[in-house]
Amino acid sequence: MLAILAALAAPHATAGDRVVLAIGAHAGDAEITTGALLARHKRLGDRVALLHLTLGEGGNPKMSPAAYGEQKKREALVAAKVLGAEVLFGPWKDGELRDTEEAARYVADVIRQVKPTHVVTHWKASLHPDHEAAHRIVNAAVLLASLEGFESAHVRHRGVRGVYYADNWEDPERFTPYLYVDVTEDLATWKAAVTSYEFVRGGISSFPYLDYYEALARVRGAVAGKRFAVALEVDPFSKKRVLDALP
Ligand SMILES: [Zn+2]
Repeated sequence: MLAILAALAAPHATAGDRVVLAIGAHAGDAEITTGALLARHKRLGDRVALLHLTLGEGGNPKMSPAAYGEQKKREALVAAKVLGAEVLFGPWKDGELRDTEEAARYVADVIRQVKPTHVVTHWKASLHPDHEAAHRIVNAAVLLASLEGFESAHVRHRGVRGVYYADNWEDPERFTPYLYVDVTEDLATWKAAVTSYEFVRGGISSFPYLDYYEALARVRGAVAGKRFAVALEVDPFSKKRVLDALP
């Protein structure tokens, strides 16, 4: 944790030297909330990556989890390609993600391989237990990945400058937007990416995913003085700013 605090106080990254890793509980979570941000960073010359801990294969009442899981994987590969992101898939089943040491070790090893400077994942409070588990797993994994004492096939990674939490309709409780990133020029790429998912196009869930997240980007953009923006929350300790004088 100390390493992360020190890193947050470091100067801002310059374009091209960031690696942004978005980790979602279900395939689609990270792209729908954070895809525009990933598209923006890709366009700025940064590396971007996605880790889907589960496929979210249980969400289609008309298909078996096995068949829908195959479809979700195909859709995730297309979405990642459109965003210009690398994509990785965790081994867990939809609804069965748990905050275990095994899960933290798995994600820590992914972090050691991808070497992110910035990690985006779920906020701590959610309607979905998988999302809450993902929040805890990712935070444990960032720390574990940095520790010399954690042995894995890859060397330790201490370069995570910050962990950020996505603006997800299922994770709203006590979520207060803190950072706003202008994604006006990236919304078209985001839309092209997320509509690779049938659940976003409509017909599986009654929730209007595309309308909600496009309107949300407009709402966040409005208060940020931009056309469209993605908002992120951070941990309370990350809100501390240390300055030589008032800005
Ligand atoms: Zn989800």
